[in-house]
Amino acid sequence: MDRKGVLTVISGFSGAGKGTLVKKLLQDYDNFALSVSMTTRKPRPGEKDGVEYFFVDQDEFEKKIEENGLIEYARYCDHYYGTPRSYVEQQLAAGRDVILEIEIQGALQVKKKFPEALLLFVTPPSAAVLKQRLEGRGTETGDVIAKRLARAYEESEGMDAYDYIVVNDDLELCVRQLHGMIEAARSEPVRQSGFIREIREELKGFREGAE
Ligand code: 5GP
Repeated sequence: MDRKGVLTVISGFSGAGKGTLVKKLLQDYDNFALSVSMTTRKPRPGEKDGVEYFFVDQDEFEKKIEENGLIEYARYCDHYYGTPRSYVEQQLAAGRDVILEIEIQGALQVKKKFPEALLLFVTPPSAAVLKQRLEGRGTETGDVIAKRLARAYEESEGMDAYDYIVVNDDLELCVRQLHGMIEAARSEPVRQSGFIREIREELKGFREGAE
């Protein structure tokens, strides 16, 4: 079977626990490469340039857009966020599974450019749990939380466009589910076109031999 990398987009409401999930996925399984996005938002305490994000100013971000250096980008709560192109393309070509942890506008752009991409949407079990998690994080002001909740409502309207909805209630279970979905995606015909072509050719040879 072909062993091409699967491009997986993981989106979810801010506070759905995506970051923790992705971290655990990378710890538990080999072969994943996590794309580091570029953003104009300021680092939160503890965040380092080049680890959580490449932190840049607006001019630098816009230059990257002009150079076609991003495979997608979006504005989210007054800031730009985007996925640098070169890393993703290199990793996929090397057969690694690439994870993009991005919001919905970006996810839809990726699906247009890479129709075989797998789109997963992570959600807490309920809106009330989402609100509690955002408040409990303690890194955001009430104003920012309100903005993120309003944004979550808008994003909920786009959930239908995803391949799978993943409820993040139990971390371990959720990571296993995500991994299972990525493994299953590897077997989709769209990703196995080389294998399909080969086996068809072989079968054709047998048929001709029998005639
Ligand atoms: P945060 O500021 O909490 O780190 O991220 C805010 C939102 O931006 C999250 O939903 C996150 O998934 C999304 N995001 C992070 N990087 C990118 C990116 O490269 N492109 C897009 N479209 N969204 C991103």
